[in-house]
This record gives sequence, structure tokens and C-alpha cells, in this order.
Amino acid sequence: MELEIVTVGTELLLGFTLDSNAADIARALAAVGARVTRRVTVGDDERAIRDAVAGSLRHTKLAVVTGGLGPTKDDVTKTAVARLFGAPLELDEAYLGALTRRFARFRRAPMPLSNRSQAEFPRGATRIPNARGTAPGLILQGPLGTAVLLPGVPAEMRQMLGDHVVPFIEGLMSREGHRGWPIRSHTLRTTGVTESGLADLLAGLEPGLEGVSLAYLPGWEGVDLRLTAQVADRGEGEGEGDGDGPLLRAAARIQDAIGERYYGPGEVDLAEVVLAGLRARGWRLAVAESCTGGMVGSRLTAIPGASDVFVGGIIAYANDSKARDLGVPPVVLAAEGAVSEVVALAMAEGVAKRFHTESAIAVTGVAGPSGGTPEKPVGTVVVAARALERSVVRTLHLPGSRQEVRSRSTQAALDLLRLLLARS
Ligand code: AMP
Ligand code: MG
Repeated sequence: MELEIVTVGTELLLGFTLDSNAADIARALAAVGARVTRRVTVGDDERAIRDAVAGSLRHTKLAVVTGGLGPTKDDVTKTAVARLFGAPLELDEAYLGALTRRFARFRRAPMPLSNRSQAEFPRGATRIPNARGTAPGLILQGPLGTAVLLPGVPAEMRQMLGDHVVPFIEGLMSREGHRGWPIRSHTLRTTGVTESGLADLLAGLEPGLEGVSLAYLPGWEGVDLRLTAQVADRGEGEGEGDGDGPLLRAAARIQDAIGERYYGPGEVDLAEVVLAGLRARGWRLAVAESCTGGMVGSRLTAIPGASDVFVGGIIAYANDSKARDLGVPPVVLAAEGAVSEVVALAMAEGVAKRFHTESAIAVTGVAGPSGGTPEKPVGTVVVAARALERSVVRTLHLPGSRQEVRSRSTQAALDLLRLLLARS
């Protein structure tokens, strides 16, 4: 089964709002084997909407449309598509009554006149309930095909998509005898290795991947490897998930080849892996941060339940603070400079002592854009990790803007502790 997506909103054309709806719809439908063949975006213009939906229905007989279902003048999707289907808008008195009461209850004010249009529906259309807002979705069916209209607000759209639209389209597929070929994917997260470094590790593996395709997705935190497979719907007598076999086998082989650079599946954050490793040993963690200014602490505290492992930290930005709050000897600071391996190690040791923790992370570096020297150019960052009496330190040369250097440093610091734990 094929379909097209039409997203409506002048703000999307202007680039003020990112079109997340189209991506959410495409992913949700690919997972059940319906294939999106084209995406179109148009402004809040009745003519443009009608033309776009008509074009999509000519191509695929099924169009999913979002945006422009609100009560204001610029929301014209319902009118445009109703005209296209030749379905007059009719006022639903009962719905208008319910809407009016809803306003009185939640807003304690009379309903604005403009909301009245929300009680008008194209004749013969099916409504999709909206648990999070006032505009229901609509399904129009006719000789042109099927148009599914959803509101633009992403949270409302997503809920209606999952609860109603995906099951509706699955129903259409089975009624029309389409065999589903759902897209399944699995992500392997890596860090501390470049895209080309990974490609070298995986060279020679690709022929054996049984039709599973492999995408390299580099980002500031590392490179994610996304494996994608189109699996046949399970037939009679097959167990749940049997079709995932090639995907899981490919993931296992790749994970093997990557070795310790792999840190978890797609949903996992590196901070979570570090916390789990410490929790398993009953150890606690403190952080000492200079150029990352709290970003390591922020990553750790973003993980629910971090408090049984993470105790706290010190942002020691100025040299004074590194000496006074972390006990880094001023002579060492003067001789070696704040961005040095001895200082990073002393920061880690200092913060572990101060917080009485078994483990610690420290970061110090030149995030830029100024402050670089010939010996220590912008992007020079030293990370240290400590577990019991063992310490490791690494000097990195990171590319990118100030924000990028800080993000990469944060990830590298967490990774250093992860590796120290893995190897001890
Ligand atoms: P609308 O239903 O057109 O009134 O849109 C309501 C809100 O949802 C506005 O803030 C829009 O910017 C936002 N929105 C509309 N379409 C999209 C989309 N395709 N992706 C993300 N946000 C959207
Ligand atoms: Mg809009």
C-alpha cells in the first residue's frame, strides 16, 4: 500500500516550524508496511491545499493531511478537502453543544465565535476523536480515494495517528489484500570512533547481512549505525517476531566487529550506561568540570534514578576555583597550565575526595573561539576518569564550534569512565 503525505502550514514553508509531523507519520506507517512515496508541503491556502490533495489522490488514492484544522481564519484544510470531495459542510448541533459546554467547564468563559466552525463537518465524513484538543480528525472517502485529515499540533497528531489512523490504514490494507512488508530497524550506538574508522571495522561484513541495509549516522555524540530490514508479515504458524531474524543476526555480527566502541542500542544514552556500570558495583560518582560548565552533570541528572549513583560536582572554571575547591596545587596550575593531564587528574582526585565517591570524572579544555595557543589550540580538551585508585587521562583535539567542542567533551569524558569500568 502506498500513500502520500500533505502537510499544511505557511510556517512550514517559511521554515519557522520544522515539519516533524511528516516524519512521525512516515515512520509510524512504515512500521506496518505502508509506504510513503511522496511528501508535499503547502501554505494555508485553499487552492494550494485542494491541488496538493487532488494530486496525491491521483497518485496513490490515499493521502494523509495534517495542519489547518484549527478554528481560525487561516485554517482552511477542512473547507478545501470538503470541496474537493463535493461534500457540503454541515453544522452538527449536538457537537456544537458539547463544544460550548467544554469551553464553559475548562475556560470558564463563553466560547469564541470562531470555534463554531469546528462543529461543521463535511457530509459523510468519519470523525477521528481528539483526546488532547478540540479539533477532531476526519476521514473522507469517495471516488477520488481516501483523505485522512489530522490537526497540526504534534502531540494531538501523534496520539490520533497511533490510536486511530494506523489501525485504520492497516484495515484498508487487509481489506484490499495488500501484503504488509513492515520496515524494521535496530540502532547500534558507538562513540570515540569516526565514521570511516567504523567502515574499516565493518569492511567485509556487508555481504553477509542478508539484505539488511546499514546507515552511518554521525553526530556530536558519536556515530549511530542504523540497520534496516523489510520483513515479511508473519504467516500462519510463525511466532511473533520471526521476521526479525536477519535484523537481529546482522546486529549481533556488527556489534561483535565494533567491540568496545559499541555502548548500547538506539534508545540508550551513554550517561545511562555509565550510571548502570557504577550501580552494579555499588559505587558513587562526582564530577569536576571546567569548559563543560555542568554539562556532564546535566547529562547524568537527565537520567531518572541517577541519585543513587551521582552525588554532585564542582564547576571549577577559573584557576582559583580549581585550586581552592578541588585542591589542584597552584604551582602545578602555573607550570602546566589549566588544560593539562596533571591538572585533569588532580581535578578528578580532588572531587572524589571532596564528595567521598569511589569514582570521578574531570574535564578541562579550550572550547574557543578564543583562548587557543600554538601548543594548545582551540579544541584541546583533557578528560580524566577515576575508579577507586585507578585513573586514566586523555588529551583530545576536537573539531567544531564552542558548543560542539563542549558536547563532544562531555561525551568523551563519560566514555572514558565507561571504558575504565569495562576494562577493570
Ligand atoms: P494548525 O493545526 O495548522 O493550526 O497547527 C497548529 C500548530 O501545530 C502550530 O503551532 C503549527 O506550527 C504546528 N504544526 C502544524 N503543522 C506541523 C507539522 N507538519 N510539523 C510540526 N508542527 C506543525
Ligand atoms: Mg496552521
